[in-house]
Amino acid sequence: MKLSIYGKGGIGKSTTSCNISIALARRGKKILQIGCDPKHDSTFTLTGFLIPTIIDTLQSKDYHYENIWPEDVIYQGYGGVDCVEAGGPPAGAGCGGYVVGETVKLLKELNAFYEYDIIVFDVLGDVVCGGFAAPLNYSDYCIIITDNGFDALFAANRIVASVREKSRTHPLRLAGLVGNRTKKRDLIDKYVEICTMPVLEVLPLIEDIRVSRVQGKTLFEMAELDKTLRFICDYYLNIADQLLTYPEGVIPKELPDRELFNLLSDFYLNFNDSKNQIKETNLDFIIV
Ligand code: ADP
Ligand code: MG
Repeated sequence: MKLSIYGKGGIGKSTTSCNISIALARRGKKILQIGCDPKHDSTFTLTGFLIPTIIDTLQSKDYHYENIWPEDVIYQGYGGVDCVEAGGPPAGAGCGGYVVGETVKLLKELNAFYEYDIIVFDVLGDVVCGGFAAPLNYSDYCIIITDNGFDALFAANRIVASVREKSRTHPLRLAGLVGNRTKKRDLIDKYVEICTMPVLEVLPLIEDIRVSRVQGKTLFEMAELDKTLRFICDYYLNIADQLLTYPEGVIPKELPDRELFNLLSDFYLNFNDSKNQIKETNLDFIIV
């Protein structure tokens, strides 16, 4: 199974990816996580350091694939999860899709691409171009991380459009949304009411998750020492267990921008109306 985790920048894709990877490994699966963000910190909480990227390694070997060994680019992380960082093209030049393509090509040359039960692609979600959608070419499922706010749901809707487009030519399904860093889910629910898709889990903002990034550890590793953190691991195990049933998922249909603006801004208006305090900033969302 191949999974791509998408979402707005900083929403928690890498955090969620690392913990889902371990949750899947805990269920006995052989996992590879591929960071596809030029930030190349996707696997940081799994390995505890920033591993060399595929692009850096390729460059240092003058793109001679035959001189690269698996141990040059695949690093073992916590819980037996293998880790790769694709790296990025030079800022403002090149294409992220090319980088992902080269990464997959190299892993195939190394006979590593088909060695895993599950490959998790952790993908950046701000750049909406063909390159950004490249991991979807290799994926059975897409998962979108969002919070309960306008920006993340707007980004989610763009990703939904990419999934719909790719699913015309690839056997790709949207497994669903994961809510992150939010206790409230009213906007998420409003969105999926119209744009039908499963909500796999909703994680609140938890200080220990933020701390895990600083410590370079996943929640599973932290929970070894502090059993009170196990309830956080359960969120990720729940997502893993749903994925392991090979859920049907959906081929989603995105909302036109205008409809999405209206859907979410109506909400803002009603909410503020009821409090008799329509704020000017919220009017940004209204298209007449
Ligand atoms: P992305 O990969 O989408 O850019 P990250 O996974 O790096 O985002 O997360 C951004 C920051 O948010 C990190 O410091 C991370 O620890 C923190 N974070 C992610 N999810 C949560 C959560 N549920 N509660 C608290 N902090 C979180
Ligand atoms: Mg990330």
